[in-house]
Amino acid sequence: MEDKVYDYTAVSRDLRALTDRYPFVKSEIIGKSLKRRNIYLIRLGEGERQVFYNAAHHGTEWITAKLMMRFAFDFAESYVKGYRLAGYDIRRLYRDASIYIAPMVNPDGVELSKTKEGWQANARGVDLNHNYDAGWDEYKKLARENGITAPGRTRYAGRRPESEPESKAIADFTRRMDFEYVVAFHSQGEVIYWKYGKILPPRSEEIARLISKSSGYELDEADGLASYSGYKDWFIKEFGRPGYTIEVGAGENPLPLSQFEKIYKDILEILVFVGLT
Ligand SMILES: [Zn+2]
Repeated sequence: MEDKVYDYTAVSRDLRALTDRYPFVKSEIIGKSLKRRNIYLIRLGEGERQVFYNAAHHGTEWITAKLMMRFAFDFAESYVKGYRLAGYDIRRLYRDASIYIAPMVNPDGVELSKTKEGWQANARGVDLNHNYDAGWDEYKKLARENGITAPGRTRYAGRRPESEPESKAIADFTRRMDFEYVVAFHSQGEVIYWKYGKILPPRSEEIARLISKSSGYELDEADGLASYSGYKDWFIKEFGRPGYTIEVGAGENPLPLSQFEKIYKDILEILVFVGLT
């Protein structure tokens, strides 16, 4: 099965192919993982409206990185040809919006998941999606009550918020920018999380309903350990703007690549309709 994993080598190779074939697609490295792997960023479009998608915060969820790369290729090809994508005018989107994508936030975790079953964390056992400064102390308390007190494959929040180079790179980049909203792609569950506490940013419910309708994924509210210290929680808290966690696909992680086409079809409209709503 190992050869089927969309791993760090695959995302590096595809990124090079993407920017070679479509020189107008910009890419940069916004940070390094603990094991000195690149945290890549892609920019699609040149417009003023900015959004940010990130994927593979968790090791076993590498299918989300492949979804991001497929979208980048389809976007670029549609731009060149003047095609529509999921019914949307890509040249117009290119003019109006800038879509920033970090396809693989946790490259070390993806690599580790190939040999360590269920590995979600980074290379020193910190769950990056519990390493953001949003209810982090409450999370630590709740985690202790649930017996999570040390680094491991999942749910350990680290010694302090943004203690990890991967989450810090994503947070630093977010602070530098002016995103209208952000989407963190995870797997699995076919569900969309859109709230943090009682904060309800303008348009957050409207966009949540749109993306739920287009994907067929249910809107849900996280509870227990899942309700704190994630990227989207921090974005909502810090900026008072909409943030979403989308759990793509159904079944058990890692999701098999046989689901890829269906998932891509389900979420494509979410990926393109930014700037047009
Ligand atoms: Zn996840």
